[in-house]
Amino acid sequence: MTRVAVVGAGVAGLGVAFALRDDADVTLFERTERVGGRATSHERNRCVYDVGANYVKSDDERVSELVRELDEGLVETEGPVWTFDADEAISEGRDEDDSKWTYRTGLRTLGTRLADASGATVHTDTRITGLRRAESSDAESWYVEDEDGDEYGPWDALVLTPPAPVTASLLDLAEWDDDLRRELREAIGHVPYRPVLSVALHYSFEVERPYVRAGEHDKEHEVGWLSRESCKPGHVPEGEELLIVQLSPEWSADHYDDDDFGVATAAAGYAADLLSEHPFAAPDWFDVVRWRDAQPNDGVDEAVLRRANEAGLFFAGDWVVGEGRVHRALRSGLDAAEEILD
Ligand SMILES: Cc1cc2nc3c(=O)[nH]c(=O)nc-3n(C[C@H](O)[C@H](O)[C@H](O)COP(=O)(O)OP(=O)(O)OC[C@H]3O[C@@H](n4cnc5c(N)ncnc54)[C@H](O)[C@@H]3O)c2cc1C
Repeated sequence: MTRVAVVGAGVAGLGVAFALRDDADVTLFERTERVGGRATSHERNRCVYDVGANYVKSDDERVSELVRELDEGLVETEGPVWTFDADEAISEGRDEDDSKWTYRTGLRTLGTRLADASGATVHTDTRITGLRRAESSDAESWYVEDEDGDEYGPWDALVLTPPAPVTASLLDLAEWDDDLRRELREAIGHVPYRPVLSVALHYSFEVERPYVRAGEHDKEHEVGWLSRESCKPGHVPEGEELLIVQLSPEWSADHYDDDDFGVATAAAGYAADLLSEHPFAAPDWFDVVRWRDAQPNDGVDEAVLRRANEAGLFFAGDWVVGEGRVHRALRSGLDAAEEILD
């Protein structure tokens, strides 16, 4: 069987493993202690809340089929995305037909379900720092090395899925004697990202609002996104509320290194203004999550990436398709698997 190493166990890397489950021997290397990447959730005081992506959309038939296969505990957040403008007027916005899924146990469950269903070997807490292409038996193969200096391989195919800046630096240091390495590193290293500070604010009272989420409309507000986790079944106990406030990329960049209390206080103030209710300024607890590379603003020339396939090197992730969306990242993983099998 083809031996495949996948660096990064976000939904893109997991998509590769899932799609190859019957055709290849796949090993995933994940820097953090759990799979899922930016499609992740936290759990605290009987609340579950999605601190990265809010949900996965049914915008891609193949991805939707896959998610429906992994449907135990899958829940839908219903209703349109309402918007607000710089004057903080909230109005009914896009009424999309797409489903917006998460799980009762949080969107992170998508990652664990994919990992389990793929049957792949998963090394968590394993940050890959080195790549090497070298002769093994009769053919050229890939080897990966972790930060403790342990080497794994040989692999017939290597898939890189970390955010573009990390992938570019891995290529920068790779022992791979090919002019394409520099070209790839340059192209991938230029993918721009936006930062997002994501703040969970908990209240011990219930909120009655006609909307479930409010996405920022005219890009001038300090808040980019505000949503109620209580609209996701199983996430918040009755009689309580948990708001997710994602600060705009501009605000997040300016305040990235502020302390948690300062960020949460500002987020709660903006929430109170937007919802016109003073009590929102005083959450009883909060959780601040910092995403330096939250979402790519652009993609990369896929033709350049494909030229690496001949050397057994493949790429997947939201930056490959140029859109920071769970369904797009997952689809790029499924597509990379097909390229490997070609
Ligand atoms: C705040 C926020 C809100 C969002 N909202 C939405 C939304 O509402 N809807 C939506 O569809 N999308 C949303 N997104 C985007 C979505 O989360 C991403 O597009 C998608 O999860 C990207 O998946 P990925 O597998 O490409 O990358 P990632 O999830 O980043 O996976 C890459 C993995 O590689 C690992 N890694 C990195 N370096 C190494 C290394 N050296 N060795 C080993 N492993 C490594 C990382 O730990 C990570 O697990 C949001 C993202 C953020 C941050």
